[in-house]
Amino acid sequence: MSAGAARELEAILDAAVDPFVACGPDERILQVNAATERLLGWDREQLLGRPVTDLFPSRLHRFHGLSLPRYLLSRRKALGGRPTRVFARRRDGVELLVELAVGAAGMDGQERIVLTMRRLHEVIDSLEEPVEQVAGATDASMHPETADRLYRLLVENAPLGIFHFDRLPVITACNERFSGLIGTSKRNLVGLNLLTLRDERILTCVRESLDGRPCDYEGNYRSVTTGKETPVRIRFAPCYAEDGSVEGGVGIVEDITERRRVEAEREENLAQLDLLFRGAPVGIGFLDTRLRYVRVNETLARLNGIPADAHPGHTLPELLGEAGAIAEQGPRYVLRTGEPLVDQESTSDVDLGLEGPRRCFRGNFYPVRTPDGRVLGVGVLIEDITERRRAEEERAHLYREAQEAIRVRDDFLSIASHELKTPLTPLSLRLATLERRLERGENLDPSVLRHARHQLTRLTGLINDLLDASRIEAGRLALHPEATRFDLLVEHTLASMDGQRGNHTFDFERPPEPISVHGDTYRLEQVLSNLLENALKYSPDGGAIRVRLSLSDDVAVLSVTDPGIGIPEDQQQQLFDRYFRARNASTRSYGGLGLGLYISRDIVERHGGRIWVESVPGRGSTFYVALPTLASARAALPQVWPDRHLH
Ligand code: ADP
Repeated sequence: MSAGAARELEAILDAAVDPFVACGPDERILQVNAATERLLGWDREQLLGRPVTDLFPSRLHRFHGLSLPRYLLSRRKALGGRPTRVFARRRDGVELLVELAVGAAGMDGQERIVLTMRRLHEVIDSLEEPVEQVAGATDASMHPETADRLYRLLVENAPLGIFHFDRLPVITACNERFSGLIGTSKRNLVGLNLLTLRDERILTCVRESLDGRPCDYEGNYRSVTTGKETPVRIRFAPCYAEDGSVEGGVGIVEDITERRRVEAEREENLAQLDLLFRGAPVGIGFLDTRLRYVRVNETLARLNGIPADAHPGHTLPELLGEAGAIAEQGPRYVLRTGEPLVDQESTSDVDLGLEGPRRCFRGNFYPVRTPDGRVLGVGVLIEDITERRRAEEERAHLYREAQEAIRVRDDFLSIASHELKTPLTPLSLRLATLERRLERGENLDPSVLRHARHQLTRLTGLINDLLDASRIEAGRLALHPEATRFDLLVEHTLASMDGQRGNHTFDFERPPEPISVHGDTYRLEQVLSNLLENALKYSPDGGAIRVRLSLSDDVAVLSVTDPGIGIPEDQQQQLFDRYFRARNASTRSYGGLGLGLYISRDIVERHGGRIWVESVPGRGSTFYVALPTLASARAALPQVWPDRHLH
């Protein structure tokens, strides 16, 4: 090979991206290219003659009794041309992961070993068993003829397509790989004028390299013979003559099909991940090791109340102030311990000190690590669980209410059966007495009959209360209102209960003038009787029951005051609820179903009135009933109560 051809090949090798190293049978370096110098940090002159194993860590020098190149040569068949991953050693001692391919050829009976490397950036697996060190390097020089053949060997074995062109620009030489990529024979290619390709971008690169500037081309090459499209990348570089002028250029062609596929796949994966990230219904964020946001999704941005793009580069306290400083404790813990922190619940008001309606959050914080375990930052997952909490609380509340309803029902059933049975025993006793006397022809004692009738009345009253309560529940308690003298109704009721009052006295304070209401006489009497019966029942020691009727504006106000046991203050509100009995009214001492006031309230309210109580436990109670007077009822609801009903 001429000196020119040798220079040309040297230019080709130097333009190559990946390092090449060639050595003789003694494994000493005969030639390297510029990429080797760049990658390993040696000058070409320093490397020539050195044992090639100097380019690898000492633990890799010998392997299974063979030097590293020999070992890999022995495995060539098994590897089927695939490169091996090893660590190369730079001059400064730093180790780099590379893919290493080793080939060999005989030249003039002289063996040549060629190593090509490609730098890798990730750790997968490697050959790194420690072996002994080999002896130091001795100088070696290279015969130009040898170099010439060596270049050919390298060019032909290169995993890249290589072609050379002159200034015309006509292709003057190329390797098999190049003709394979183009899909035609080497013979057809040599002599081809690049201008005939009519590809403006390629021609620009040709011109650039002929002007002394390397240039990159990337595009799809369509094979003339097969029509197949191949994505390629071509590095164009100038070739210099001895006088320093550009005599032509080289093109190094790489088939990037696989790289494109991997890139497309990666892009698709990233796009999918991005969609997942953006659309996730939980807040997702990533904080770096200084607890500054790197990224957040829309949900987290919404939770923080700050646009997503305002997050990167800022810490939580910078963005959210005091609340952010509190929220930062979780990620801080993760950084300190390297442990994840899961299911941390917090509330906006109590925990974070924020104003506004309470919101509840659940946070998960975890360390984000590289495959080799280095912590890159903290992953943050935040969920707004306000609604879920509210639903849980609601459910718990309903559950408590249901439990309470069941308890009330059970209590009621036992009280009701007790109450209903109570009058039955004396009633049947009295009836038996009457029967006996009649059989014996004795005189009948009217008091026995009176007592029997009293028990019957009590039983009827209880049953009526139960029926009324169920009518109220079903919305079917009918009222038949008419103009009614309320003062006379009170007087009448008091008189009818005279037989029941025992040691008590009734003290009625009449209004100065008659008071009329628009009401159901029977039902209003029921309310009043109920209040009077309670007053008697819950004042066991007798005393005066004061009944007062007065007019206040257009409202008739009736009050019943007793000197009885009174009602605990915290229970006065519930007194008018169905089945409710105050705790000081034990079933044993005071019979009752807890329905009288419930029914009374319904009746009063449906008359447009109000019922309430004032009471001091141990001192007595006053129940009030306020009803609109006839005049005000007519004014308020003329369409409901037309005049003809009033007369
Ligand atoms: P009951 O049949 O139990 O008397 P009510 O509905 O008439 O049912 O009354 C409900 C509860 O209110 C009673 O059980 C009692 O605890 C309390 N109560 C009603 N009236 C009085 C009163 N005058 N003095 C004290 N407690 C009363």
